[in-house]
Amino acid sequence: MENKNIPQMEPWFDDAEANAVFEYMKSGGWLMEFKKTAELEQKISEFTGAKYCVVTVNGTISLVLALLALDLKPGDEILIPAVTMIASPNSAKLIGVQPVLVDIEPKTLCLDLNKAKKAITSKTKAVMYVPLNGRSGNMDEVVKFCRDHNLFLIEDSAQALGCYYQGKHLGTFGQIGSFSFSVPKIITMGQGGALVTNDENLYAKMKKIKDFGRVKGGIDIHDDWGWNFKYTDLQAVVGLEQMKKLSWRVNRKKEIYKLYEQELNGLKEIEMITTNLQDTAPWLIDIFIENPEKLAAHLKERSIGTRLHYPAINTQKIYKDEYVGKSFPVSEHYGSRGLWLPSASKLTDDDVRYITDSIKSFFIR
Ligand SMILES: *Cc1c(COP(=O)(O)O)cnc(C)c1O
Repeated sequence: MENKNIPQMEPWFDDAEANAVFEYMKSGGWLMEFKKTAELEQKISEFTGAKYCVVTVNGTISLVLALLALDLKPGDEILIPAVTMIASPNSAKLIGVQPVLVDIEPKTLCLDLNKAKKAITSKTKAVMYVPLNGRSGNMDEVVKFCRDHNLFLIEDSAQALGCYYQGKHLGTFGQIGSFSFSVPKIITMGQGGALVTNDENLYAKMKKIKDFGRVKGGIDIHDDWGWNFKYTDLQAVVGLEQMKKLSWRVNRKKEIYKLYEQELNGLKEIEMITTNLQDTAPWLIDIFIENPEKLAAHLKERSIGTRLHYPAINTQKIYKDEYVGKSFPVSEHYGSRGLWLPSASKLTDDDVRYITDSIKSFFIR
C-alpha cells in the first residue's frame, strides 16, 4: 500500500475492448467511419436522451463543428466562462469567432449569468456554457437567458457525460451539446468527440460538414462547405465497450467523491464545492486551497499524483493581451487555488483513504 503509485487519472480497459478490436479486425472492417460509429452514435443518443448524435474526431473539433453548423462567422462573439479547458475558447478562435470571457459563479464554477448579461454586444451570437466538472447552474435560467437575448446555446459538456440538471442530461438543453472521449474523461477511445441535438436540420448539417459537404455519401459533388471531421470504426468499437461501463462508472464517481468529502470534512483549509450527487458525477475530485503546489509536492513524495486546476483563461499567455486591466475575480480565485486529486473510476476505497490520510498528515502536523 505505502509503495503504491496512484496517478491523478488513468484510463480503464480490459479484455472486452481487446476482444472487440480483435473481432472487428478479423471481420474485415475498413477502420474508417461506418456502421460501428453509427452504432456508437445511437448509444450516445439513448444514454443522453437526445434525438440525434454525431461522433467526430475529438472534443475540440466537435465544438468547431457545432459553431460551423450554427453559422457562426469571423467577427461574431461568443460568451465563454473564464474558467474552462482551453479548448472551449480556442475552438472559437480557430474559425475567427471571438470568445468573450465571462466570470464564473462561486457556487457552481459555471458561467455567471448576471455578468454574462453585461458582456453582450451587437456581435454576440451564442453562449458556450460549460458544466465544469459535471456541475451546472440552473439550466432553466440559462435557457431563458439565451432565449431572451436571442443567442444560441452550445453546451461544452465534455466533462458532464452521465451528469444531469433535475434529471435531464446536460448537453441537451441548448441547440447543441458536445462531449469528449479523450483519455482522462469518464470513458475514452483515446480520442473522440460527440455532438447531440434534437434539431433535425442541425443534425443533417453537422453530418454534411464533417463529410466534405457532399450532397450524399460516396459522391464527389459539393454544394456546401465541408471538411473531414469523421471518426473511425476502430475507435467506435472501443467506444461501444466503454459505453457498457458508463453507468457503473457514473455511480462509482459519486461514491468516490462522497468518500473524499467525508474524509476531508474536518479540514478547514480545504474547500470543496457543495455538489448534488443525485445529478452530478464529478469527473474530478477538485479541492480548493491556498498554495495548491505545496500540497501537490507533499503528495508526490507519497507517489500520489495530482494536477493543478485550469488557471483563469485571461491569465494564459495567449489571452493576456486581450484582457489587460480586466479582472475575473471569482475565476482567478478558484483557478489559482484548485487542485485535482486522484479521480480515476478504478480507485478503491482504500486508495481514497490512503490519499486522504496523506492530505491530513500535511495539514495536521
Ligand atoms: C476535454 C475537454 C475538451 C477538449 O476535448 P478533446 O477531446 O481533448 O479535444 C473541451 N472542453 C472541455 C470542457 C474539456 O474538458
